[in-house]
Amino acid sequence: MARIVCWGLVCLQGILLLILAARFSPALVDRLVQPRPPSVLLVTIDMLETRHLHCYTGGKTWTPSFHSLASDGILFERMYAQAPVTDVSHASLMTSRYPSELFTDRDPRVAVHTMAEQFARRGFRTAYFPSCGLLNPEVTSKEVADVLPFGRGFQETFPVDAREGVPLFDTHRSGTDTNRIAISWIARQSAAGRPWFAHVHYRDLHPPAVLSFQPVDDNLGALLAAVDRENAVVAVLSDHASSPRAPRLLDRRLHVPFLMQVPGGPRGARVKRFAQAVDVGPTLLAAACGEYSRDACSGRDLFGDAPRREVVAESRYLDGRMLRGERFKYVEYFTDRPERYLFDMQADPEEKRNVIARHAAEAQRMQASLAGYLGPTGGHQIMPDTKRLLQRLDYF
Ligand SMILES: [Zn+2]
Repeated sequence: MARIVCWGLVCLQGILLLILAARFSPALVDRLVQPRPPSVLLVTIDMLETRHLHCYTGGKTWTPSFHSLASDGILFERMYAQAPVTDVSHASLMTSRYPSELFTDRDPRVAVHTMAEQFARRGFRTAYFPSCGLLNPEVTSKEVADVLPFGRGFQETFPVDAREGVPLFDTHRSGTDTNRIAISWIARQSAAGRPWFAHVHYRDLHPPAVLSFQPVDDNLGALLAAVDRENAVVAVLSDHASSPRAPRLLDRRLHVPFLMQVPGGPRGARVKRFAQAVDVGPTLLAAACGEYSRDACSGRDLFGDAPRREVVAESRYLDGRMLRGERFKYVEYFTDRPERYLFDMQADPEEKRNVIARHAAEAQRMQASLAGYLGPTGGHQIMPDTKRLLQRLDYF
């Protein structure tokens, strides 16, 4: 009996499809019978800090756009950038690879597939809206784009225009102008009815163009209003916190805000587990497409994979790196004079007292764990050509 009913339903579905095919365009029929993945909006806000946001710290400044995203979605309390500087941090974010995987020849099997390439391969229309020349797809040359592939794989890019007398990597565009371009692009994709992946970058908090915080919140609000959030995964984060002028691997430079919204996902959730920038790609791919390629990245799906117990970060020229665990943080620098630190982050959140002598065994364990992520201490130097290319962009 059940089989007859089942067969009847299949026939009924077939008849309905025939009627649809006769009356409507094939594209429309296709859309009606095949569930479409949600679109994906990734927003990076240069130098945004948790202390700027009411939803993190309950601070004085009311930030309604961030607040509404946090109450409709998920707030990650312990998100870390992979590097304390804009270009390197974005390169890691967009490739889901550690800086040492991008800047050394340690393992030729490490394949680099950007988030944009992966979404494009899955049928998404992809576009990139940087707000500074430093993040243009090819900042100054093809060689730089190979080292810092944050702009690779986008089908459309809306780069910042060069200005006479100003180095390209030092030019920037206001968030309002970037928004105008991004919002009209999103409207075109929505009208075409196809899934899209957009990376929108704002730089209004970054020196020398420091504005008040209000325009950043306003711009984010306008951008989110242009997106059908019932059918889009949204991720908002910062590339690093505070001024990168002396880019030591301090928590106050690496700990960043990260908010997400997933259709049908939790609302108002606060995640206390660790997360890091390389996890964003796998998490977005898994949320939108149900899967990601494990061999194409070093991150993990923050919802589907085992929780992280620690995070790592590296300095611009790979001459410093850190492992942050629940209580302790281990840091090593291999500049002129090698330095090793262990900080008790619960007793000393400002990282002022080196307790490595008192907790030598813990430091040893963390050093080995760090080597497991990034290779042996001092064993993988940055390639000289890569260092020279990065130095050309190091305007701070
Ligand atoms: Zn930055």
